[in-house]
Amino acid sequence: MPQYCEVALTVPLRTTFTYAVPEALLGVVEPGSRVAVPFRNRVMVGVVVEITDGLPAFAKDESSHGKIKIREVAHVLDALPALNAKLIELGRWVGSYYLAPPGDVFRTMLPPLTELRAERILRMTSAGRERLSELSAIQNRSEMEVTEHALLELIEVEGEPLAMRRLRKLPGGEAAAARLLRRGQLEAEEIARARKTRMQKIIAWNPAAPSGQIEVIDKDIAAKKSVTTSARFAASEERVRRVLAEECGPLPLKLLLERAEVSQAVVDRLMNQNKLKGWEEPATTEDDFFDADYAAPANVLNAEQEHAVAELRAWLEKGEFAVGLLHGVTGSGKTEVYLRGVREALDRGRTAIVLVPEIALTLWAGRIFRAWFGEQVAVLHSALPDAERSREWWRVRRGEARVVVGTRSAVFAPVSNLGLIIVDEEHEASYKQEESPRYHGRDTAIMRAKLEGAAVLLGSATPSLESYQHTHAGKYSLLRMQSRVAGRQLAQVEIVDMREDFKKTHRASAISSRLREAMKDRLASGAQTLVLINRRGYSFLAMCRSCGASVQCQNCSISLTYHKKRQLMICHYCGYTQAVAKLCPKCNSEYMYFVGEGAERLEESLRNLFPQARIGRLDRDTVRTKREYQKILGAFASGKLDILVGTQMIAKGHDFERVTLVGVVSADLRLGMPDFRASERTFQLLTQVAGRAGRGELAGEVLVESFYPEHFAIQDAARQDFEGFFEREVRFRRLMHYPPFAALANVLVRDRKVENAIRWSRQLAEYFVPLEKSGVRALGPAAAPLARLKGEHRFQFLLKSPRRAALHDALAGVLDFCAKKQIPDSAIILDVDPLSLF
Ligand code: ADP
Ligand code: ZN
Ligand code: ZN
Repeated sequence: MPQYCEVALTVPLRTTFTYAVPEALLGVVEPGSRVAVPFRNRVMVGVVVEITDGLPAFAKDESSHGKIKIREVAHVLDALPALNAKLIELGRWVGSYYLAPPGDVFRTMLPPLTELRAERILRMTSAGRERLSELSAIQNRSEMEVTEHALLELIEVEGEPLAMRRLRKLPGGEAAAARLLRRGQLEAEEIARARKTRMQKIIAWNPAAPSGQIEVIDKDIAAKKSVTTSARFAASEERVRRVLAEECGPLPLKLLLERAEVSQAVVDRLMNQNKLKGWEEPATTEDDFFDADYAAPANVLNAEQEHAVAELRAWLEKGEFAVGLLHGVTGSGKTEVYLRGVREALDRGRTAIVLVPEIALTLWAGRIFRAWFGEQVAVLHSALPDAERSREWWRVRRGEARVVVGTRSAVFAPVSNLGLIIVDEEHEASYKQEESPRYHGRDTAIMRAKLEGAAVLLGSATPSLESYQHTHAGKYSLLRMQSRVAGRQLAQVEIVDMREDFKKTHRASAISSRLREAMKDRLASGAQTLVLINRRGYSFLAMCRSCGASVQCQNCSISLTYHKKRQLMICHYCGYTQAVAKLCPKCNSEYMYFVGEGAERLEESLRNLFPQARIGRLDRDTVRTKREYQKILGAFASGKLDILVGTQMIAKGHDFERVTLVGVVSADLRLGMPDFRASERTFQLLTQVAGRAGRGELAGEVLVESFYPEHFAIQDAARQDFEGFFEREVRFRRLMHYPPFAALANVLVRDRKVENAIRWSRQLAEYFVPLEKSGVRALGPAAAPLARLKGEHRFQFLLKSPRRAALHDALAGVLDFCAKKQIPDSAIILDVDPLSLF
């Protein structure tokens, strides 16, 4: 019986597509296979989500009238289907729960497409062949005819279709091809070609080389300007030899130049002398030299840690679905519990996934897990180069790596026989993807574990309200670690009332006199300080003193942030940049002033206050690469810096033994915003950053500057009283029908034309009215808090319901309604369980 398959393609449509499986591919096309298929007049890659024997029902009645022509699968990309049955099921759940198009979901789940590239080719038709002989007969060809002739003849001579990209080299070739295509003398087709893997040059020291004596150079002479070229070359050669023969072994060319500090010319010359040899290799991972001399911690567990591990062991022993929340204060040693949990899973022949909230933390976690489990560990995150990510992904798929450390999307890592998923810092907002598919990594982890009979361990010092409430309701078990390891104390937290500080000093400085004095003490005694600030840039508001106008982004309703070093005003939402405003955009007054301190300005103020201190800054402007990040953190960890200023990047994970003071500058900004999670976020951030102090032998102190010193989120964070905070916050959530007591969704309507956005939201408002009866309340339409973003006008509805099923039906109804009213799919964003309402 003929076979057909349903393929999810990355097109912005909410359907899958049916293809026939040609005879040659029977048994090769499997559920989960990546396939290349013809789509319109192109080739696309998709994933098979289902195979049916015989025509699917919908096609049967129609094809009998010859309306639908089912096309055939062209290629199967991989020898092994990319996704197993469980992952296909998980993908379907994500698609349905978050109302995301299947193409978006499966694109997120699959490895990057490095093996295939699409190419357009031109073929000559019989009309083309006639045209060719016609042109050949003409004596005096016009310029156009000359090009057409050359083009057709090229195809004729080569005897095979011509790749479109080659036309670029033929002047006028593209226009000629367009004419020939229009007249039916050529036809175009898109085909898929295997891509060559990117290669890199590897250089090695040639031990067999004629050992021309390396001249011994006198250091004193070398230091002088008068050093001869040959001596300088010998020194370079010696560095190259040392790096390649003694320190590292063969290296990629680029890395060699960096580490030996020599130029390409030196390498070329040594190659000519046969002292070096080189060859090509597929480009792979940038080797991690940081692993080299790293010994993983292996502590004797304390009683609380033992208890948590015993619980995990019991779940794995049973081999059933279970969820636990490990609520352990900062510095209670959660990592040790994770490591042991993973070992328990591996010992039972199962696999494990460890999720961390940021790419930067995969460095730290990857290193620890590699130190314990070696080659069995794969690291997966979106910032890896495609080739490397693909390689790691397939290592996991083939079962060579059985522990995956990664960010959000690693929840889809293709391990089989999954035993344990760890979600570190489970409360972090970065687990939610803010583009389609808008899934939550933690919640998807729980669903995956349920499908595969695995255990999930959520870990945090400040659990999300949702997860903690689930432990009360008996859905998750609660594991506690209430004390820090080795009897260390939590740091003392003091709130600095910034209103009082201003009254006393009459200076609107971000650094209070209290914080300044405390930092002075640390500098005197050689201890370190961390300073957290919530904003990047120099100043986030440029205002006119004459008329009060501020400098806004052209595309978004948000003010531009001034970056002093780059001398630019930048929109942190869409990336728009402009020159620094000297004049008011509205009244042309020259009295512009910059308010609202960011990290860049704070660093500058600190340098002025403490000119002798060694200060570093860590935020997305100072670190763009893994190396920069490691350089700054390494400098701080090894005591080469006294003060480290940074955004929330510094609040997590790291263990700095000599930090005895943490200052928090304007971390309460969020409390002034209309966001029901503002208290929770503020509490979490303050507690986490306070946890950075006093992790070594020395006790720590934390100073939190605030304009809302009596706010309970600040007060509870100062006492590090999670329970107290939870009780107060949960009362508010219950009263206001917010999660975890109601299911929430955000429906956003957007368009470049404001009339469209208004008309469509009015229509939707009517759709929502009758839903009130089924228990779904829609608040709106209201202008979204960011009423314009990237040039689009935005209105939103907030949907609330005590019943999740009712909410889901309402959202599915939105899609049907829009289809019926011809509201374009791209105008609607559905966000289920939104974390931010912006
Ligand atoms: P958390 O993630 O809970 O904040 P970590 O896992 O980072 O804490 O552990 C904090 C520090 O305590 C680490 O340096 C770790 O090596 C150390 N540590 C963990 N468990 C123990 C223990 N049982 N005895 C001594 N030190 C420990
Ligand atoms: Zn003005
Ligand atoms: Zn913008």
